[in-house]
Amino acid sequence: MRLLPWLVLLVLVIYVVRKKIRNAVDAQARGARQERPAELDGETMVRCEECGIHIPVSEALPGPGGRVFCSEEHRTRNASS
Ligand SMILES: [Zn+2]
Repeated sequence: MRLLPWLVLLVLVIYVVRKKIRNAVDAQARGARQERPAELDGETMVRCEECGIHIPVSEALPGPGGRVFCSEEHRTRNASS
């Protein structure tokens, strides 16, 4: 029975390697989850001058006098009134 210690060692090595791989995959998944909300938090919200709805600054349409609008329709409506 000189094979048994080697067999035990082999099983132990496989167990440790699999655990390390699983931890690495988990850490990667956690990192990906944490990156997304950070991007959303970085977006500044602005208020439409016409209807008062809050929209991300990247989706806002700039109007006269530094005002912002949610849509082209609201920009023209605000300019004409
Ligand atoms: Zn609006």
